[in-house]
Amino acid sequence: MAPSVQTLPTSVSDEIYANVKWEELGFGFYRTDNMYVAKCKHGESFQEGSIVPYADFQISPCSAVLNYGQGLYEGLKAYRTEDGRIMLFRPDQNALRLQSGAHRLCMPYPSVDQFVSAVKQVVLANKKWIPPPGRGTLYIRPILFGSGPILGSLPVPEYTFTVFACPVGRFHQDNAGLNLKIEDKFRRAFPSGTGGVKSITNYSPVWITLAEAKAQGFSDVLFLDAATGKNVEELFASNVFIVKGNVVSTPEISGTILPGVTRKSIIELTRDFGYKVEERIVPVEDLLDAEEVFCTGTAAIVTTIASVTFKETKTEFKTGDKTLAAKLFATLTDIQMGRVEDKKGWTMELTDATTPGLKF
Ligand SMILES: *Cc1c(COP(=O)(O)O)cnc(C)c1O
Repeated sequence: MAPSVQTLPTSVSDEIYANVKWEELGFGFYRTDNMYVAKCKHGESFQEGSIVPYADFQISPCSAVLNYGQGLYEGLKAYRTEDGRIMLFRPDQNALRLQSGAHRLCMPYPSVDQFVSAVKQVVLANKKWIPPPGRGTLYIRPILFGSGPILGSLPVPEYTFTVFACPVGRFHQDNAGLNLKIEDKFRRAFPSGTGGVKSITNYSPVWITLAEAKAQGFSDVLFLDAATGKNVEELFASNVFIVKGNVVSTPEISGTILPGVTRKSIIELTRDFGYKVEERIVPVEDLLDAEEVFCTGTAAIVTTIASVTFKETKTEFKTGDKTLAAKLFATLTDIQMGRVEDKKGWTMELTDATTPGLKF
């Protein structure tokens, strides 16, 4: 067992850890030392990039990302375990999702191996920014975008794949569970649109409603489907689950919700617990009739939803230690933090001996 953080002598912690007030960490941008950059010309494929000091980019004012929103992001975490290992959680899944988004937005993309290698390199190059166990995680942000100039027609001459990382603490600060507002005016995604990929164009168009909900005291919003306005889709950046008896339901993957890696993992763990899991259309009425509601995501992990407000009416749900959400949170974080044996093969351990050694 590593000594608890409080007892680490300052001189030691200075070497192992960056000078961060870990207990004050929220979920925000924090500049770290290094990032990964790879570029790719039109018609070529991504070659191995390199680790460079974290710095601002120089970018053409006419770039595809700035003018037409051609960009994708990913989000995953590196965890420091109590016995000093560094772990990633299912990075291959993020790589595959980036690839499907790149296909949708007409961009070339890194191979799964190159993606995972880039993530590992960024974590190791920013090792001292990985919070002590229990104090937070290193959030890793891979982005892929059209960096070359395009005014009239395709092709975009150049693409950039970058990975940077920030230490983070809790995403949602509401310990007693989230209070959501069902958004009935703005829709997040439409059938055949880009809701199913992590396109950067999915987020700022709905900030207006998130800002309004937060100003009204809500923690987050719950979007309805654009086609009918009757069914629940997801939160701003996390997936939603409802529990009734032995049945757990979550909106099916139909192109308008983001296929979360956490969602996929939670479905499996919930089935392991003996629940029946249904991926289906979830009408608002079903959600309001549920006993328990929770959301999942890399940032949110598994977070209980205490209430949902729809057209002025507030419905409350079960919260606390006895919820399925609490049990799932404990099980998932035990696997992610290396506290239990990972029988699923979901975690990937990093060591300093990790060499990219990959062929492209
Ligand atoms: C990223 C994201 C999620 C959660 O995905 P994870 O892979 O679990 O982090 C859910 N919904 C939206 C809209 C997202 O952007």
